[in-house]
Amino acid sequence: MTTSREIRLKNRPVGVPTHADFDLATVDVAAPGPGEVQVKNLWMSVDPYMRGRMYDRKSYSPPFELGKAMQGGAIGQVTASNDPDYAVGDIVNSMFGWREVFNCSPKALVAAGMGALTKIDTHGLPPQTFLGVLGMTGMTAYVGLLRIAALKDGDVVFVSAAAGAVGSIVCQIAKLKGHTVIGSAGGPEKVAFLKSIGVDHVIDYKATPDVVAELAKAAPKGIDVYFENVGGVHLEAAINSARPFARMALCGMISQYNETGTPTGPSNIIQAVGKSLRLEGFIVSNHYDLYPAFAKDMAEWIKAGKITWKETVEDGIERAPDAFIKLFAGENMGKMLVKLG
Ligand code: NDP
Repeated sequence: MTTSREIRLKNRPVGVPTHADFDLATVDVAAPGPGEVQVKNLWMSVDPYMRGRMYDRKSYSPPFELGKAMQGGAIGQVTASNDPDYAVGDIVNSMFGWREVFNCSPKALVAAGMGALTKIDTHGLPPQTFLGVLGMTGMTAYVGLLRIAALKDGDVVFVSAAAGAVGSIVCQIAKLKGHTVIGSAGGPEKVAFLKSIGVDHVIDYKATPDVVAELAKAAPKGIDVYFENVGGVHLEAAINSARPFARMALCGMISQYNETGTPTGPSNIIQAVGKSLRLEGFIVSNHYDLYPAFAKDMAEWIKAGKITWKETVEDGIERAPDAFIKLFAGENMGKMLVKLG
Protein backbone atom coordinates (compact mmCIF):
# COMPACT_ATOMS: atom_id res chain seq x y z
CA MET A 1 0.00 0.00 0.00
CA THR A 2 1.23 3.47 -0.85
CA THR A 3 -0.37 6.90 -0.77
CA SER A 4 -0.89 9.39 -3.56
CA ARG A 5 -1.92 13.02 -3.51
CA GLU A 6 -4.29 14.17 -6.23
CA ILE A 7 -6.03 17.34 -7.36
CA ARG A 8 -9.80 17.21 -7.59
CA LEU A 9 -12.16 19.70 -9.17
CA LYS A 10 -14.20 21.16 -6.32
CA ASN A 11 -16.34 23.70 -8.18
CA ARG A 12 -17.01 24.49 -11.80
CA PRO A 13 -15.10 27.80 -12.09
CA VAL A 14 -16.92 30.95 -13.10
CA GLY A 15 -14.53 33.18 -15.00
CA VAL A 16 -10.83 32.71 -14.33
CA PRO A 17 -10.30 29.61 -12.11
CA THR A 18 -9.11 30.23 -8.55
CA HIS A 19 -7.57 28.01 -5.88
CA ALA A 20 -11.01 27.64 -4.29
CA ASP A 21 -12.05 25.58 -7.34
CA PHE A 22 -9.58 22.78 -6.51
CA ASP A 23 -9.03 20.34 -3.65
CA LEU A 24 -5.86 18.46 -2.73
CA ALA A 25 -6.69 14.96 -1.43
CA THR A 26 -4.61 12.00 -0.28
CA VAL A 27 -5.67 8.48 -1.23
CA ASP A 28 -4.34 4.98 -0.58
CA VAL A 29 -3.14 3.06 -3.61
CA ALA A 30 -3.10 -0.73 -3.21
CA ALA A 31 -0.48 -2.99 -4.79
CA PRO A 32 -1.34 -3.51 -8.47
CA GLY A 33 -3.82 -6.35 -9.15
CA PRO A 34 -3.63 -8.98 -11.91
CA GLY A 35 -2.75 -7.40 -15.26
CA GLU A 36 -2.13 -4.03 -13.60
CA VAL A 37 0.92 -1.82 -13.34
CA GLN A 38 1.70 0.84 -10.78
CA VAL A 39 3.13 4.12 -12.03
CA LYS A 40 4.74 6.99 -10.15
CA ASN A 41 4.25 10.19 -12.11
CA LEU A 42 7.37 12.29 -12.74
CA TRP A 43 5.76 15.16 -14.69
CA MET A 44 2.27 16.33 -15.56
CA SER A 45 1.01 18.78 -18.11
CA VAL A 46 -1.43 21.62 -17.60
CA ASP A 47 -3.13 22.73 -20.79
CA PRO A 48 -5.61 25.47 -21.68
CA TYR A 49 -8.08 22.90 -23.13
CA MET A 50 -8.62 21.59 -19.58
CA ARG A 51 -10.60 24.74 -18.86
CA GLY A 52 -13.22 23.47 -21.33
CA ARG A 53 -13.52 20.23 -19.37
CA MET A 54 -14.41 22.22 -16.24
CA TYR A 55 -17.74 23.26 -17.78
CA ASP A 56 -20.60 20.79 -17.54
CA ARG A 57 -21.32 20.63 -21.25
CA LYS A 58 -20.93 18.28 -24.15
CA SER A 59 -17.68 18.64 -26.03
CA TYR A 60 -15.03 16.54 -27.78
CA SER A 61 -13.79 15.42 -24.37
CA PRO A 62 -16.13 14.80 -21.40
CA PRO A 63 -16.42 17.20 -18.46
CA PHE A 64 -14.27 16.59 -15.37
CA GLU A 65 -16.39 15.15 -12.57
CA LEU A 66 -16.68 17.20 -9.40
CA GLY A 67 -14.94 15.64 -6.40
CA LYS A 68 -12.77 13.37 -8.55
CA ALA A 69 -9.15 13.59 -9.65
CA MET A 70 -8.85 15.41 -12.96
CA GLN A 71 -7.13 13.89 -15.97
CA GLY A 72 -4.42 15.04 -18.32
CA GLY A 73 -1.12 14.16 -19.90
CA ALA A 74 1.56 12.78 -17.58
CA ILE A 75 4.91 11.05 -17.81
CA GLY A 76 5.69 8.47 -15.14
CA GLN A 77 7.84 5.51 -14.27
CA VAL A 78 6.58 1.97 -13.70
CA THR A 79 7.26 0.96 -10.08
CA ALA A 80 5.51 -2.45 -10.05
CA SER A 81 4.11 -4.55 -12.86
CA ASN A 82 1.81 -7.53 -13.35
CA ASP A 83 1.75 -7.02 -17.13
CA PRO A 84 4.57 -8.76 -19.00
CA ASP A 85 4.71 -5.90 -21.53
CA TYR A 86 5.82 -3.41 -18.85
CA ALA A 87 8.91 -3.63 -16.66
CA VAL A 88 9.81 -1.75 -13.51
CA GLY A 89 11.67 1.40 -14.61
CA ASP A 90 9.83 1.83 -17.92
CA ILE A 91 8.97 5.44 -18.70
CA VAL A 92 5.32 5.76 -19.73
CA ASN A 93 2.98 8.41 -21.07
CA SER A 94 -0.62 8.40 -19.84
CA MET A 95 -3.67 10.56 -19.28
CA PHE A 96 -3.46 9.96 -15.48
CA GLY A 97 -2.13 13.41 -14.65
CA TRP A 98 -3.14 15.51 -11.60
CA ARG A 99 -2.02 12.69 -9.23
CA GLU A 100 1.24 11.28 -7.95
CA VAL A 101 0.70 7.51 -8.23
CA PHE A 102 -1.82 5.33 -10.04
CA ASN A 103 -2.61 1.74 -10.93
CA CYS A 104 -4.03 0.78 -14.27
CA SER A 105 -4.51 -2.23 -16.48
CA PRO A 106 -2.98 -1.20 -19.82
CA LYS A 107 -4.94 -3.84 -21.76
CA ALA A 108 -8.26 -2.91 -20.13
CA LEU A 109 -7.59 0.78 -20.92
CA VAL A 110 -7.15 0.04 -24.60
CA ALA A 111 -10.12 -2.35 -24.68
CA ALA A 112 -12.33 0.36 -23.14
CA GLY A 113 -11.08 2.96 -25.67
CA MET A 114 -9.78 5.02 -22.75
CA GLY A 115 -6.36 5.80 -24.20
CA ALA A 116 -3.16 3.88 -23.61
CA LEU A 117 -0.20 3.56 -21.34
CA THR A 118 2.49 4.27 -23.90
CA LYS A 119 6.07 3.22 -23.27
CA ILE A 120 8.58 5.88 -24.27
CA ASP A 121 12.14 5.54 -25.43
CA THR A 122 13.41 8.98 -24.43
CA HIS A 123 16.58 8.68 -26.56
CA GLY A 124 18.37 10.47 -23.74
CA LEU A 125 16.04 13.47 -23.81
CA PRO A 126 14.43 14.68 -20.58
CA PRO A 127 11.15 12.74 -20.16
CA GLN A 128 9.01 15.87 -19.91
CA THR A 129 9.95 16.67 -23.50
CA PHE A 130 7.28 14.12 -24.39
CA LEU A 131 4.60 16.38 -22.92
CA GLY A 132 5.83 19.36 -24.94
CA VAL A 133 7.91 19.65 -28.07
CA LEU A 134 7.88 15.88 -28.75
CA GLY A 135 4.41 15.39 -27.31
CA MET A 136 0.91 16.75 -27.71
CA THR A 137 1.79 20.43 -28.02
CA GLY A 138 4.56 19.87 -30.58
CA MET A 139 2.23 17.60 -32.53
CA THR A 140 -0.48 20.29 -32.45
CA ALA A 141 1.91 22.81 -33.97
CA TYR A 142 2.93 20.35 -36.70
CA VAL A 143 -0.62 19.28 -37.59
CA GLY A 144 -2.05 22.80 -37.53
CA LEU A 145 0.64 24.39 -39.62
CA LEU A 146 1.40 21.65 -42.13
CA ARG A 147 -1.91 19.84 -42.54
CA ILE A 148 -4.66 22.30 -41.59
CA ALA A 149 -3.06 25.53 -42.82
CA ALA A 150 -1.27 23.58 -45.58
CA LEU A 151 1.82 25.79 -45.43
CA LYS A 152 3.30 26.40 -48.86
CA ASP A 153 6.29 28.24 -50.32
CA GLY A 154 6.29 31.97 -49.87
CA ASP A 155 3.56 32.09 -47.20
CA VAL A 156 3.73 34.88 -44.65
CA VAL A 157 2.67 33.34 -41.32
CA PHE A 158 1.03 35.03 -38.32
CA VAL A 159 0.98 33.19 -34.97
CA SER A 160 -0.82 34.27 -31.78
CA ALA A 161 0.25 33.15 -28.26
CA ALA A 162 3.53 32.78 -30.13
CA ALA A 163 5.76 32.33 -27.06
CA GLY A 164 3.67 29.46 -25.67
CA ALA A 165 4.10 25.71 -26.00
CA VAL A 166 2.29 25.36 -29.31
CA GLY A 167 3.00 28.83 -30.70
CA SER A 168 6.78 28.76 -30.22
CA ILE A 169 7.02 25.49 -32.15
CA VAL A 170 4.76 26.79 -34.93
CA CYS A 171 7.05 29.80 -35.32
CA GLN A 172 10.15 27.62 -35.54
CA ILE A 173 8.71 25.12 -38.01
CA ALA A 174 7.66 28.02 -40.24
CA LYS A 175 11.12 29.62 -39.90
CA LEU A 176 13.05 26.44 -40.68
CA LYS A 177 10.95 26.12 -43.82
CA GLY A 178 12.02 29.60 -44.87
CA HIS A 179 8.93 31.69 -44.13
CA THR A 180 8.45 35.21 -42.86
CA VAL A 181 6.86 34.87 -39.41
CA ILE A 182 5.00 37.44 -37.34
CA GLY A 183 4.29 36.47 -33.74
CA SER A 184 2.11 38.05 -31.09
CA ALA A 185 2.78 37.66 -27.36
CA GLY A 186 2.48 39.60 -24.13
CA GLY A 187 5.50 41.34 -22.58
CA PRO A 188 9.13 42.20 -23.33
CA GLU A 189 10.57 38.87 -22.13
CA LYS A 190 8.42 36.99 -24.62
CA VAL A 191 9.31 39.46 -27.37
CA ALA A 192 13.03 38.83 -26.69
CA PHE A 193 12.51 35.05 -26.72
CA LEU A 194 10.66 35.17 -30.04
CA LYS A 195 13.35 37.32 -31.60
CA SER A 196 15.97 34.85 -30.34
CA ILE A 197 14.26 32.03 -32.26
CA GLY A 198 14.19 34.04 -35.46
CA VAL A 199 10.66 35.45 -35.53
CA ASP A 200 10.83 38.35 -37.99
CA HIS A 201 8.38 40.69 -36.32
CA VAL A 202 6.89 40.48 -32.84
CA ILE A 203 3.75 42.26 -31.70
CA ASP A 204 3.60 42.82 -27.94
CA TYR A 205 -0.18 42.93 -27.75
CA LYS A 206 -0.10 44.04 -24.12
CA ALA A 207 2.01 47.12 -24.96
CA THR A 208 0.19 47.83 -28.24
CA PRO A 209 -3.31 46.33 -27.96
CA ASP A 210 -4.50 47.55 -31.38
CA VAL A 211 -3.47 44.24 -32.95
CA VAL A 212 -5.37 45.06 -36.16
CA ALA A 213 -3.19 48.13 -36.75
CA GLU A 214 0.02 46.44 -35.55
CA LEU A 215 -0.41 43.46 -37.86
CA ALA A 216 -1.26 45.72 -40.80
CA LYS A 217 2.05 47.53 -40.13
CA ALA A 218 4.04 44.32 -39.68
CA ALA A 219 2.67 42.72 -42.85
CA PRO A 220 2.01 45.56 -45.32
CA LYS A 221 1.45 43.02 -48.12
CA GLY A 222 -0.75 40.81 -45.93
CA ILE A 223 -0.56 37.32 -44.48
CA ASP A 224 -1.25 33.91 -46.04
CA VAL A 225 -1.49 31.76 -42.93
CA TYR A 226 -2.83 32.45 -39.46
CA PHE A 227 -2.23 30.00 -36.61
CA GLU A 228 -5.02 30.92 -34.19
CA ASN A 229 -4.49 30.36 -30.47
CA VAL A 230 -6.20 33.39 -28.95
CA GLY A 231 -9.42 34.55 -30.68
CA GLY A 232 -11.12 37.97 -30.46
CA VAL A 233 -9.04 40.87 -31.72
CA HIS A 234 -6.26 38.55 -32.91
CA LEU A 235 -8.63 36.77 -35.30
CA GLU A 236 -10.02 40.12 -36.40
CA ALA A 237 -6.48 41.31 -37.17
CA ALA A 238 -5.71 38.14 -39.13
CA ILE A 239 -8.87 38.47 -41.23
CA ASN A 240 -8.13 42.15 -41.84
CA SER A 241 -4.58 41.42 -43.04
CA ALA A 242 -5.36 38.20 -44.90
CA ARG A 243 -4.48 38.00 -48.55
CA PRO A 244 -6.98 36.31 -50.86
CA PHE A 245 -7.05 32.51 -50.29
CA ALA A 246 -5.32 32.77 -46.90
CA ARG A 247 -5.73 29.73 -44.60
CA MET A 248 -6.40 29.93 -40.89
CA ALA A 249 -5.80 26.95 -38.59
CA LEU A 250 -8.17 27.47 -35.65
CA CYS A 251 -6.27 25.71 -32.88
CA GLY A 252 -7.63 27.52 -29.83
CA MET A 253 -9.15 30.77 -28.59
CA ILE A 254 -7.80 31.13 -25.07
CA SER A 255 -9.05 34.71 -24.64
CA GLN A 256 -12.58 33.26 -24.53
CA TYR A 257 -12.16 30.24 -22.25
CA ASN A 258 -13.06 32.15 -19.07
CA GLU A 259 -15.60 34.43 -20.70
CA THR A 260 -18.77 34.97 -18.67
CA GLY A 261 -20.44 37.44 -21.05
CA THR A 262 -20.65 37.62 -24.83
CA PRO A 263 -17.20 36.94 -26.29
CA THR A 264 -15.57 39.49 -28.59
CA GLY A 265 -16.01 38.25 -32.11
CA PRO A 266 -14.26 39.23 -35.28
CA SER A 267 -16.56 41.99 -36.55
CA ASN A 268 -15.07 41.64 -40.04
CA ILE A 269 -15.86 37.96 -40.73
CA ILE A 270 -17.63 39.07 -43.93
CA GLN A 271 -14.16 39.53 -45.47
CA ALA A 272 -13.83 35.74 -45.46
CA VAL A 273 -16.26 35.70 -48.40
CA GLY A 274 -14.64 38.28 -50.63
CA LYS A 275 -11.10 37.08 -49.90
CA SER A 276 -12.01 33.38 -50.27
CA LEU A 277 -10.51 32.63 -46.86
CA ARG A 278 -10.45 29.15 -45.36
CA LEU A 279 -10.92 28.97 -41.58
CA GLU A 280 -10.64 25.41 -40.28
CA GLY A 281 -10.79 24.24 -36.69
CA PHE A 282 -9.02 21.07 -35.60
CA ILE A 283 -8.42 18.83 -32.61
CA VAL A 284 -5.00 17.23 -32.60
CA SER A 285 -6.28 13.84 -31.42
CA ASN A 286 -8.03 13.41 -34.77
CA HIS A 287 -4.71 13.61 -36.60
CA TYR A 288 -2.50 10.97 -34.97
CA ASP A 289 -1.99 9.29 -38.34
CA LEU A 290 0.64 12.04 -38.74
CA TYR A 291 2.45 11.03 -35.54
CA PRO A 292 5.21 8.93 -37.19
CA ALA A 293 6.02 11.75 -39.64
CA PHE A 294 5.94 14.28 -36.80
CA ALA A 295 8.22 12.19 -34.55
CA LYS A 296 10.74 11.67 -37.36
CA ASP A 297 10.78 15.31 -38.49
CA MET A 298 10.87 16.73 -34.98
CA ALA A 299 13.69 14.41 -33.88
CA GLU A 300 15.73 15.49 -36.92
CA TRP A 301 15.04 19.18 -36.36
CA ILE A 302 16.00 18.93 -32.68
CA LYS A 303 19.19 17.01 -33.53
CA ALA A 304 20.10 19.62 -36.13
CA GLY A 305 19.53 22.42 -33.59
CA LYS A 306 16.69 23.88 -35.66
CA ILE A 307 14.09 23.65 -32.90
CA THR A 308 14.58 24.77 -29.35
CA TRP A 309 12.07 25.08 -26.52
CA LYS A 310 11.40 26.60 -23.15
CA GLU A 311 9.69 25.17 -20.09
CA THR A 312 8.08 26.85 -17.10
CA VAL A 313 8.00 24.48 -14.15
CA GLU A 314 6.01 24.42 -10.91
CA ASP A 315 7.19 21.96 -8.30
CA GLY A 316 4.86 19.49 -6.57
CA ILE A 317 1.28 18.32 -7.05
CA GLU A 318 0.05 21.01 -4.66
CA ARG A 319 1.28 23.62 -7.20
CA ALA A 320 -0.65 22.13 -10.12
CA PRO A 321 -3.64 24.50 -9.77
CA ASP A 322 -1.21 27.47 -9.74
CA ALA A 323 0.44 26.19 -12.90
CA PHE A 324 -2.95 25.88 -14.57
CA ILE A 325 -4.21 29.29 -13.45
CA LYS A 326 -0.97 30.95 -14.61
CA LEU A 327 -1.69 29.93 -18.21
CA PHE A 328 -4.47 32.50 -18.31
CA ALA A 329 -2.22 35.28 -17.03
CA GLY A 330 0.50 34.45 -19.53
CA GLU A 331 2.93 33.52 -16.75
CA ASN A 332 4.45 30.72 -18.77
CA MET A 333 7.14 30.82 -21.39
CA GLY A 334 6.95 27.74 -23.58
CA LYS A 335 5.46 24.61 -22.04
CA MET A 336 3.89 24.86 -18.59
CA LEU A 337 4.70 21.73 -16.56
CA VAL A 338 4.42 20.41 -13.03
CA LYS A 339 7.31 18.35 -11.67
CA LEU A 340 6.07 15.50 -9.51
CA GLY A 341 8.96 13.10 -9.20
P1 NDP B 1 0.43 28.32 -24.08
O1 NDP B 1 1.72 27.72 -23.68
O2 NDP B 1 0.39 29.13 -25.33
O3 NDP B 1 -0.13 29.14 -22.85
C1 NDP B 1 -1.22 29.95 -22.97
C2 NDP B 1 -0.80 31.37 -23.42
O4 NDP B 1 -1.93 32.04 -23.92
C3 NDP B 1 -0.31 32.25 -22.28
O5 NDP B 1 1.06 32.06 -22.01
C4 NDP B 1 -0.62 33.64 -22.77
O6 NDP B 1 0.49 34.16 -23.49
C5 NDP B 1 -1.77 33.42 -23.76
N1 NDP B 1 -3.01 34.01 -23.24
C6 NDP B 1 -3.67 33.67 -22.12
N2 NDP B 1 -4.79 34.42 -21.98
C7 NDP B 1 -4.80 35.26 -23.05
C8 NDP B 1 -5.68 36.28 -23.48
N3 NDP B 1 -6.80 36.61 -22.78
N4 NDP B 1 -5.40 36.96 -24.62
C9 NDP B 1 -4.28 36.65 -25.32
N5 NDP B 1 -3.41 35.68 -24.97
C10 NDP B 1 -3.67 34.99 -23.85
O7 NDP B 1 -0.64 27.17 -24.22
P2 NDP B 1 -0.63 26.01 -25.29
O8 NDP B 1 0.51 26.21 -26.21
O9 NDP B 1 -0.75 24.73 -24.58
O10 NDP B 1 -1.98 26.27 -26.08
C11 NDP B 1 -2.07 27.33 -27.03
C12 NDP B 1 -3.44 27.27 -27.68
O11 NDP B 1 -3.56 26.05 -28.39
C13 NDP B 1 -4.61 27.33 -26.71
O12 NDP B 1 -5.63 28.09 -27.29
C14 NDP B 1 -5.02 25.88 -26.59
O13 NDP B 1 -6.34 25.73 -26.20
C15 NDP B 1 -4.76 25.39 -28.01
N6 NDP B 1 -4.56 23.96 -28.16
C16 NDP B 1 -5.35 23.32 -29.06
C17 NDP B 1 -5.18 22.00 -29.34
C18 NDP B 1 -6.03 21.36 -30.37
O14 NDP B 1 -5.99 20.14 -30.52
N7 NDP B 1 -6.80 22.14 -31.12
C19 NDP B 1 -4.16 21.20 -28.63
C20 NDP B 1 -3.31 21.98 -27.74
C21 NDP B 1 -3.52 23.32 -27.51
P3 NDP B 1 0.74 35.76 -23.57
O15 NDP B 1 1.58 36.09 -22.38
O16 NDP B 1 1.44 35.91 -24.85
O17 NDP B 1 -0.59 36.42 -23.47
